[in-house]
Amino acid sequence: MESLYTKYRPQTFEQVVGQTHVVETLKRAVLEGRTSHAYLFCGPRGTGKTTMARILAKALMCEQGPAALPDGSCEQCRLIAAGEHPDVIELDAASRTGVDNVREEIISRVNYAPALGRCKVYIIDEVHMLTTQAFNALLKTLEEPPEHVVFIMCTTDPQKILATILSRVQRFDFHAIGNDEMQAHLAYVCGQEGFGYDEAALELVVRHARGGMRDALTTLEQLSVFGAGQITLPVASDFLGEVSGSLLGQISRALARRDVPTLFTEVATLVDAGRDLLQLTRELSAHLRDVYVVSVVPSSDDVVAARGAELDALRAEAAAFGSPDRLARALAVLGDASSEMRTATNQRLVLEVAFTRLARPETDLTLDSLAERVADLERQVAILSAPGAPRQALASTGEKNLKAVGAPTPEPAPAPAAPSAPAPAPTPEPQAARPAAQAAPAPAPTPEPTSAPKPKPVPAPSAPAAAGLSNGNLQRTWKQVVDRLVAQAPAKGSLLLSSTAVSDDGERLTVSLPKGSHFAARMLERTDVRETVEPAVAAAFGPRQVIYVESSLANQAISRSERPTTAPAPAPAPAPAPKPAPAPK
Ligand SMILES: [Zn+2]
Repeated sequence: MESLYTKYRPQTFEQVVGQTHVVETLKRAVLEGRTSHAYLFCGPRGTGKTTMARILAKALMCEQGPAALPDGSCEQCRLIAAGEHPDVIELDAASRTGVDNVREEIISRVNYAPALGRCKVYIIDEVHMLTTQAFNALLKTLEEPPEHVVFIMCTTDPQKILATILSRVQRFDFHAIGNDEMQAHLAYVCGQEGFGYDEAALELVVRHARGGMRDALTTLEQLSVFGAGQITLPVASDFLGEVSGSLLGQISRALARRDVPTLFTEVATLVDAGRDLLQLTRELSAHLRDVYVVSVVPSSDDVVAARGAELDALRAEAAAFGSPDRLARALAVLGDASSEMRTATNQRLVLEVAFTRLARPETDLTLDSLAERVADLERQVAILSAPGAPRQALASTGEKNLKAVGAPTPEPAPAPAAPSAPAPAPTPEPQAARPAAQAAPAPAPTPEPTSAPKPKPVPAPSAPAAAGLSNGNLQRTWKQVVDRLVAQAPAKGSLLLSSTAVSDDGERLTVSLPKGSHFAARMLERTDVRETVEPAVAAAFGPRQVIYVESSLANQAISRSERPTTAPAPAPAPAPAPKPAPAPK
């Protein structure tokens, strides 16, 4: 089944919803034959960057052209729309294979003449994720692009694009799609699909999508599948309600008061309910963005969508965080976590590590945490008194601390890697810079420095992945099946997002769902869902009967080790948060 997002993907400039500033400029350039060799499309996810890239590719190849708008119906346009045009190469830099392909493609194939079209178009998604080598290869080509090559790079994070690249591209900024425009489009899709709908339900979907058409259409599709063609307010708020609004507020407040147990419990609950943690992380970022805006501009009625009690709640959260700097850091950490989650095999761990980084118990006055802080201070004193101590590093972060009033964790703001030279990545976190003064006001229980307990290790990251090593191939193949399903039929595929393959005996493939996934389990047994899932399984594994089991073993294991019995918080990791090395993909 074709997803609504694919089905209603705009095929020509005229069909694009919103982004008129981009559409008009591009149309003029095409008609006047003044297109560029390199474009950068920046903007939030789901705002139509790759869609626009494909339409531009059509404009460059269409049989009506050159210097004509694409008709969307000739052979060239059709192949591009289907993603099958040999001269339109789409690469996703967020995936490891994508990075390899970029290097491979750009170094070895860029000079070949196009096979079918008038030119070759490279669409590179999430271009900011490229490795340095891939970037360098790209840069070299951009310096002297072959006549027949056009690069269209897309990014959600233009801050991370090197200045040397920025200076060689024509940049377009995509905006979040306006609520009214989006709602009108959803109503149009409902009409085309024969869905009944409440305006209020669509409004909720729109609010939830925060300017991203892809999210809006995916949600609409899920609601239509689960509501049997009716998009009603009760179903929509039931479906969206839990993750939006109250839960996000709860997590945000727990972050503000550095309440790690609550945070981990929330994650466990979400996993048990089969929620998509990546989606949650994005929504949480959007929510904290609102809190941030409110904290910077207290009279921010125009800049956030919230009103009344909702706005008051945002203000209360802003006050609980204390300073905008803390919120900015939270946004940066969550942003990194979402990029990492895209490729991580264990999304839960990535989120938990992010939460831990944000909620270190600096303000906790229990004996345990004081002891940890004393141990930390000792280590810092030792570093400082050592000959040749890294004073420069300390001095520079010290300066940052002065500016970041009220932000107790002086981690270096994740610097936008802008400067032209690929800096010699100064990753080590200057832990030593934790302000010593901070410990002073505490009613110090004079802990013997020698008896200070060693910082507790962060929850062992290996627990949930235990099965991964012995049957890595099984997991990898299963993950591919799920990814494909999610791309093909998001509503159904996403039921499997938190699943893992347990065993495959050649006839039966056993797949486990997190404990409590009653809804997902019920839906997966439905004939229409089986008819979608089984062919995908067969394509990857061969014909199999798919057996779903509910498993909680891994989850239980992880939640036991997470819930501290004495101290409410995991120790501050002495090193930067461990990156859960994504298992070979
Ligand atoms: Zn055409």
